[in-house]
Amino acid sequence: MENKFGSTHFNTIATWLKERFGCRIMKLSLDGGFTCPNRDGSKGTGGCLFCSEDGSGHYASTIPEQIQLLSGKWPEGKYIAYFQSHTNTYAEPAVLRRIFDEALEWPGVVGLAVATRPDCLPPEILDLLDEYNKKTFLWVELGLQTKHDHIAEKMNRCYPTAQFDQAMADLKARNILTVVHLILGLPEETKEMMMESVQHVANLHPFGVKLHLLHVLKNTGLAELYPEGIHTFTQQEYIEFIVDILERMPQDITIHRITGDGPAEDLISPLWSVKKRDILNGVQKEFKRRDTWQGKLL
Ligand code: SF4
Repeated sequence: MENKFGSTHFNTIATWLKERFGCRIMKLSLDGGFTCPNRDGSKGTGGCLFCSEDGSGHYASTIPEQIQLLSGKWPEGKYIAYFQSHTNTYAEPAVLRRIFDEALEWPGVVGLAVATRPDCLPPEILDLLDEYNKKTFLWVELGLQTKHDHIAEKMNRCYPTAQFDQAMADLKARNILTVVHLILGLPEETKEMMMESVQHVANLHPFGVKLHLLHVLKNTGLAELYPEGIHTFTQQEYIEFIVDILERMPQDITIHRITGDGPAEDLISPLWSVKKRDILNGVQKEFKRRDTWQGKLL
């Protein structure tokens, strides 16, 4: 299989969006004011052990704040309103409709990205998403993190992988694009287990994948269990593993993230991950060294 991606070596979402919309597309990281069934007691309490109190929306804020942040740097760009914090379908359809419509009315907003849980997609919500999918650009993000239920239970994910698979099928049946989150470096997971999760996702063939390096952040369940942090990978091991994964990823799957993005002031481990640029450069160097690219080994 040839390298279709030039010097980037993999199918970055930034490039995909630029080709789709003809200009730079930026994501507005939004906190829509939702909570999560894994925090309010309906599914669980305390949330997933790796999740911060802001519902993994570290940099999320409001649309005007986000536009102000981004428009100075890229005045010609357009935006996808990304509902990131907590569970963004955990509300009545009428409430979601109001919030999504308000986002789409902002000048320059060309679509929606909605992060949620597989157990928060009942038929009426799927119907609502179907409606938005027909009138705007939309993708839905689901956090699998691992396919291994016994590890997910320890992480307090509070849904089985079978439910994730069903949600993927429900979204795909409506032609709604999906983006799947995986975490690399969960405690007790070997690289083989992580690769099994990657393979599981590749077989489901979502629109996109986000690969997160596990961060142990202050004030999370993980930090209570592992106050010294978790040190699964050195920086070089992680870089090589990312390339191992991408070599096995179908070429049409867009890659949205290949590392973590937690606030440095809250990070317990791995401290090397704050130098994100070094990781991204290291990945490119490793692609070149191996003369390889996304999907080469398929
Ligand atoms: S489902 Fe998402 S928002 Fe809810 S606790 Fe888990 S990671 Fe956090």
